[in-house]
Amino acid sequence: MAISVALATLGCKVNQAEAEELRQELEARGYLVTGATEKAQVYVINTCTVTEKTDKESRRLIRKAHRQNPGAKVVVTGCYAELDQDEISASPCAPLIVRNEDKDRIADIIDSKIILSRRAKAKGYGELAISDFKARSKAFLKIQDGCNNFCSYCKVPLVRGRSRSRAEKAIIAEFERLVKKGFREIILTGICLGAWGEELAPKRDLADLIKKLTAIKGDFRIRLSSIEPKYVDNELLEVIKNSSKLCRHLHMPLQSGDDKILRMMNRPYTFREYAGIVQNARRKVPGIAITTDILIGFPSESDRNFRNTLKLVEKVKPSRIHIFPYSRREETVAATLTGEVPKDLVAKRMKVMKTLAERYSYEYRKKFIGKRAKVLVESERDRHTRLLKGYDDRYINIIIKGVDPKDEERCISQIVTVRIQKVDKNQTLATAT
Ligand code: SF4
Repeated sequence: MAISVALATLGCKVNQAEAEELRQELEARGYLVTGATEKAQVYVINTCTVTEKTDKESRRLIRKAHRQNPGAKVVVTGCYAELDQDEISASPCAPLIVRNEDKDRIADIIDSKIILSRRAKAKGYGELAISDFKARSKAFLKIQDGCNNFCSYCKVPLVRGRSRSRAEKAIIAEFERLVKKGFREIILTGICLGAWGEELAPKRDLADLIKKLTAIKGDFRIRLSSIEPKYVDNELLEVIKNSSKLCRHLHMPLQSGDDKILRMMNRPYTFREYAGIVQNARRKVPGIAITTDILIGFPSESDRNFRNTLKLVEKVKPSRIHIFPYSRREETVAATLTGEVPKDLVAKRMKVMKTLAERYSYEYRKKFIGKRAKVLVESERDRHTRLLKGYDDRYINIIIKGVDPKDEERCISQIVTVRIQKVDKNQTLATAT
């Protein structure tokens, strides 16, 4: 019987991409990869340290793995594992810590250090050829790691190091493999995606790489996971405009709309510049969805600073906002700042921002009533209605009515055309065409 490995991952799309690569590698070596809630012989916890909450969740998953199977070997990797090795080592399950730089060797490490039964290994190895995987909906493809930006609140450059680009040849080969395997959406990820190619000789850029990927034959679409505003230039917008294979969606983190706070955060733009980048993107690619991240309660954020962020949100009207409370991270510049914002005030500001986010999401989605959309159908159904659901290329989460139950299985992991019928605060309903 194949050895079971439960894989749990937290945090950003890079972590998800790395977990997906590991899952494929383990499956190709004959392991049975399961979700984190299953009882398994080996647990791999891919942690994150972006907030205190993710640190806590990382610790909880390590404890949970041990509870589920006290005899299992637990491997802990990811950004939290870089920073809190003493705390992790003290866990009763005595985990094996794998540094980020060795993450791509986890399958080898499991093979060499953990595998107990050579017989199981020999039997399982190579049982699943890559092409045997059934088609899945979306795949994450990591093209870049590390970051040179040093935003004052962020620990990522400390744990992931400086920006590094994956070689173009390797990216294209991996992309072709994913297309062959039947993935309909390939999400290009990186800690600082837009920095791809900057340190290569000769210097390259993301727009160029995307042009090459869109030229690959096959039935797929490409999404960019998250891109810093300074990289959204005319070349990139041209590529988005000219290719039907690129999703009309840019996720550009804003964090704050106040120039003083942006400076303190070491974010390289002003209120005006961010608004200008969004305006330019909308002019060049009409209808493009702009989504963003906002950080609330950065040290010394006053009511006036917060109102400036609201003003910028009112100006750019993002179709979706991820709202995060500021979380103090040791060793960052922001951790040395005074002016902590009281928790109840942070909660109040988050509520105000959430109301605004819901309004602009609704206004954006409403424009598409009666229009067609191409939805990548997920295997998980809508929790309340049990209907099929998925995202369209503008990142609208759509629930699909009217699919013949006989055809439902066939639709999963495929892009289907629907017509949007109804939009309310929380959901978008469409019928299959
Ligand atoms: Fe962190 Fe800023 Fe780099 Fe994003 S861009 S990873 S927030 S330092």
